[in-house]
Amino acid sequence: MRNTKHKLFKDKRLRHLHDELNIIGVVRNHFLAVCMRYYRRYGKGVSYRKMSFHLTKLKKLEKYQHWNIPYAWALQNMLKRLAQSFREMKTLGRGHPQFKPCKKHKGMTFDSTQAPLEKVLDKQKHKRNHPTYKIRLNGRWYRFALHRRIEGEITQVQVTRDALGDVYITLTEDYSEVKYEPKTGKAEGFDFGIKDFLTGSDGERYGSPMFYTQNADKLAKAQKAHSRKVKGSHNRERERKNVARIHKKTANQRADHHWKLAIDLCRQFDILFFEDLNLNGMKHLWGKHVSDLAFGEFLEKLKHQARKRIRSVLKINRWSPTSKCCSVCQHKNEILTLAVRQWQCPKCHTHLDRDQNAAMNILKEGIASFGLGVVRPIVLFNQIVGVTVEANSPLLNSTNASA
Ligand SMILES: [Zn+2]
Repeated sequence: MRNTKHKLFKDKRLRHLHDELNIIGVVRNHFLAVCMRYYRRYGKGVSYRKMSFHLTKLKKLEKYQHWNIPYAWALQNMLKRLAQSFREMKTLGRGHPQFKPCKKHKGMTFDSTQAPLEKVLDKQKHKRNHPTYKIRLNGRWYRFALHRRIEGEITQVQVTRDALGDVYITLTEDYSEVKYEPKTGKAEGFDFGIKDFLTGSDGERYGSPMFYTQNADKLAKAQKAHSRKVKGSHNRERERKNVARIHKKTANQRADHHWKLAIDLCRQFDILFFEDLNLNGMKHLWGKHVSDLAFGEFLEKLKHQARKRIRSVLKINRWSPTSKCCSVCQHKNEILTLAVRQWQCPKCHTHLDRDQNAAMNILKEGIASFGLGVVRPIVLFNQIVGVTVEANSPLLNSTNASA
């Protein structure tokens, strides 16, 4: 499965898509209220079948005539998601879905047979970078630039919009992309941190620009301007878009940095070990810096690239002590606090860097627990200068299993 996201060209016609999304938002709120009432009385959500039956009845009434405007399949898909989120309340222990203003409803799904694509012949003289295509959504054609070739069969089309009023389509294909990279025969453990985004067990540090902090001044200025404008005015709407634009830019910068780093790491190493993070606990400790760095999002991107390039991303047990143990002699230093960045092992007198020591322990633990061999740190003049991996597994040298 591969997803590619394309932006629809700005057009007056887009207002039809916005209208449909608004209506779907209204219907969602209606059924959410129904579900909540039902849940309070019977302790479970309404099933999709019942909701769908009810919707068909409502659509025939004069009062709800406009509910016939959006594509019916998209409405049903929304109901399916709603029913699922009520089911997940129990199984995953989540809170109930929230009411949203209909203008904030973001997406709808189309069946691939209901959203045919066609190539548009460009009449313009200058050549465009990407071919222009058009897609038929609910009876109207919308144009966009196809920036990735379609390789497989399209199974689903998702229409989404953002706070700026831009509309995107996400094409889902039944095609898995594989990029062969030469094997490097290297494994590496990584420790996440606030000061350095990642520290490798070989001592390499990968920093992260704090994008949210970088744009904080601009954002504060825009938010101030926004709050000063009269509610409901055109000026306020313009300033709202300004704020949304800064948020979008921050997110884009972060995503771009994450992708580049993920690809870089996948090129360097065959197996990458990480600690299983307790993100909520970290947020508690360090606040919004954790959200700015977005470790979880980075790991998702890294896993995607690893799958594509046939590399392994493996997680070690959360409860194994990684920072307090000396990676050379396994001595456990109980008095080590968070503030100490460098320390000397009282037993073997090795000079240890906190992050690198943790990364080394993650590598050791990972290699041992996945049965890949033994890691020995090379110590010279009381400093760790490298590692040797005595591999007893074919994993390091030839093929890889994906996590
Ligand atoms: Zn030691």
